Amino acid sequence: MTNIRCGVCGEHYEGENVRILGHYTDLWFLSVYCPGCHSQGLVAAVLNEGRQPELVIDLTDEEYAKFGEMAAVDADDVLDLHDFLKEFDGDFSRLFSKEEG
Ligand SMILES: [Zn+2]
Repeated sequence: MTNIRCGVCGEHYEGENVRILGHYTDLWFLSVYCPGCHSQGLVAAVLNEGRQPELVIDLTDEEYAKFGEMAAVDADDVLDLHDFLKEFDGDFSRLFSKEEG
């Protein structure tokens, strides 16, 4: 994740600023917070099974343990995400301004 830069200021995201929201098959949704300009973003990443996960995710052992303790994504979560994607028009800035407002 640290090779992804903030779209606002160009700062690299740190591992601690990246939160995994969930995934829909190979499509993973990550929430990112920029330590440089304090902007928030949503990142969608496709992880192919052929790749070694440690090459694409950048979790510390502590983070890995933390995510491991989180509830597993169940069918309801997938349905929620499916509904979200169906409604979502790709306008991330509006999505987040709605949350802030
Ligand atoms: Zn930034």
